[in-house]
Amino acid sequence: MVSANQLDAITPSNHRLRCRDCGTVAAHSDWRCSACLGLLRLEWTKPTPGQRVDPTRSGVWHYRPLLPSVEPSAIVSLGEGATPLVWIDRWARAHAIERVGVKLEYVSPTGSFKDRGTTMLLSVARSLGLAKVVEDSSGNAGASVAAYAARAGLSATIYVPSSAPAAKRAQIARVGATIVPVDGPRSAVTEAALTDVDRTGAYYAGHNANPYFAAGMASFAYELIETFGAQLPRHLIVPTGGGSLVVGCFDGFLRWFGDSDEARRRCPRIHAVQSAGCAPLVAAFGRGLDHAPPIERRPTIAGGIEVERPPRDREILAAIRATGGSAVAVDDEEIRRERRLLAQSEGIDVEPTTAAAFAGLAQLVRDGVIRSDEVTLVVATGAGWKDPG
Ligand SMILES: *Cc1c(COP(=O)(O)O)cnc(C)c1O
Ligand SMILES: [Zn+2]
Repeated sequence: MVSANQLDAITPSNHRLRCRDCGTVAAHSDWRCSACLGLLRLEWTKPTPGQRVDPTRSGVWHYRPLLPSVEPSAIVSLGEGATPLVWIDRWARAHAIERVGVKLEYVSPTGSFKDRGTTMLLSVARSLGLAKVVEDSSGNAGASVAAYAARAGLSATIYVPSSAPAAKRAQIARVGATIVPVDGPRSAVTEAALTDVDRTGAYYAGHNANPYFAAGMASFAYELIETFGAQLPRHLIVPTGGGSLVVGCFDGFLRWFGDSDEARRRCPRIHAVQSAGCAPLVAAFGRGLDHAPPIERRPTIAGGIEVERPPRDREILAAIRATGGSAVAVDDEEIRRERRLLAQSEGIDVEPTTAAAFAGLAQLVRDGVIRSDEVTLVVATGAGWKDPG
């Protein structure tokens, strides 16, 4: 075992950022390629360390040796990670499945799993000495970035769709961030945020694009490995919009196990669940495409996964296929029904976006993609109070 002092010797040099399109290496403070505007991938410059955990810390930062390195004094934490795992036998029985676990990610400082990505991203922002962050979000990522910015003493401006749930908007405002509602499609919200970034030189903390956000999600995979050991659940059900959890968690498995075919086989099969009203990844998966095609969008109550053009579409589809998973769409009626059933049969109160994952699991069992005797884990991404409906 190494001491905390030795771990502190990890310098900001265990990774670099490289453009996924043209291969140019970017600065740590960039969020996209300055040459071609492509997205950046995090690339490890050191092999997976033998010492994988920091015994002096709990939660996300317990896995500090496996995360992009930042100065310990720059870490911005609210106690995220180490979320509970419960088994839902009554709900499972109602769907003729034997063993369904739920990772209660809504037991996070701001009520959603987004805190895993935000603690990483804001810690990088602080270690780079940045003063202001800008984010665009349907609510949860905005609430998370706003809270962690307050914790870090940074100023935050959060662009949200005018249709964002009132509870999430209020949450953002309470921690002192500037909140800017934007009319029109979700893409207009991103454009408004990027205009602010260009004008003010702020750091873009956009969770669908900034590579450090997904990097923090690797902690989810590490927790599963520590919890389950060699016997990981066979299936992982993830409500998916921009895909930070799918991509970050898949990268996490490979970081821990080493990048090999053997490692891919050890991963749970990752199933992405989308709303039928906005399901570009399901369209791509069904048609065998490696990127998300343009889609026609309909309104949905699952606002947290309403991402018409996921920037990381290729990575998401690759992760799903590499693990033998799938992508499935569910409609609002099924989402409402499963939300109610989960709350009343198990006391687990999630927002509609999260309930989509449970509707997706029910669908995958009906379709025979998941067998009733296979252990399945659902990610309960966001709390019910955020979007009471
Ligand atoms: C953001 C969000 C998702 C989707 O996460 P992505 O990383 O965008 O795929 C799912 N559930 C909830 C509650 C969310 O807030
Ligand atoms: Zn490039």
